[in-house]
Amino acid sequence: MRSVAEGQLHLRLPGRETVAAVLAWYDRERRDLPWRTAGRRKPDPYRVWLSEIMLQQTTVKAVIPYYETFLARWPTVEALAAAPLEDVLAAWAGLGYYSRARNLHKCARIVAERHGGRFPATRSELMELPGIGPYTAAAIAAIAFGASVTPVDGNIERVMARLFAVTQALPAAKSQLRQLAQTFACGARSGDCAQALMDLGATICTPKRPSCLMCPIASDCAARAQGIEALLPMRPAKPERPSRVGLAYLAMREDGCVLLRRRPEAGLLGGMLEVPSTAWADVLPPLKEALRTAPVQGDWWAVPETVAHVFTHFRLEVLVYRAIVPVTAGLTFWADAGRCQWVPRRDLHRAALPSVMRKIIAHGLREQ
Ligand code: SF4
Repeated sequence: MRSVAEGQLHLRLPGRETVAAVLAWYDRERRDLPWRTAGRRKPDPYRVWLSEIMLQQTTVKAVIPYYETFLARWPTVEALAAAPLEDVLAAWAGLGYYSRARNLHKCARIVAERHGGRFPATRSELMELPGIGPYTAAAIAAIAFGASVTPVDGNIERVMARLFAVTQALPAAKSQLRQLAQTFACGARSGDCAQALMDLGATICTPKRPSCLMCPIASDCAARAQGIEALLPMRPAKPERPSRVGLAYLAMREDGCVLLRRRPEAGLLGGMLEVPSTAWADVLPPLKEALRTAPVQGDWWAVPETVAHVFTHFRLEVLVYRAIVPVTAGLTFWADAGRCQWVPRRDLHRAALPSVMRKIIAHGLREQ
């Protein structure tokens, strides 16, 4: 390791030996993930892109079955581009952050129609595509095309903060950590280097108890030398998540169809289906008023207990009301009637329903 001064900070840049140790460890210990290629085979940009979009804010374990389903169903970017959006949203259901699915589809269409089915190779061109931000562009450029750049996710941030004992708190430390990570962009093996650091962060240099005894770069690690590895990266205290409440109307027709409404394209769970509900707000509307404005007239009754779901920025608690209505029941939600549809219960498993709505439906149907 070499020492250099940067402003007020004295940073130690990784020497060639550090980079070589990371790569040698990766060659021996890398995680066997379905989107990675074995040996010297070149990675397929479509697979790299698909996995990187799915991995945004989501764990590897949760992504693998979705990745395999998508790849089996749409093995090329052209096949995905030709699929109806509704099918893509339904296949994505349960993976969360649904704007990713809409952007995935939009991006596939642009790559198929304007780029002849080939992903552009540079970071700046990739960033012009929908759903691809600076991190994802760097990851695709490095892994699929060997560009000399290190994408910096939470795992790599943590490894850098510890390796260089960066004590400045996040998010202020981000740009410094990003710069340090770039010193690992090592030419032809930049993609491997990035994935090696991701694996190191995910399996050895873990958030709570890093396994320093198994770490290939322990002898270079400044935080370990000072005994402060568990404290890094420093983070400001998290503000408490606010709570919201809502009342969901689970209407079932006598023929077994369930009333669903499509959410607006923009915003949370955009374009997905939902059980119609009151607005998610700080307090519930008065019950009389809520039932008067139910989407269909019926004998509504409260299902015991509530459904809780945690989103990134708030916690939601939903009270479910249920009614069985005749097949001839008309919708009273005139403003929303165009976005409502009756879906047979047997088809719910393949509808574009996010996890929170599946919970609400399962809860509402529990005692039937
Ligand atoms: S020695 Fe420990 S803290 Fe340092 S990089 Fe390795 S696992 Fe992380």
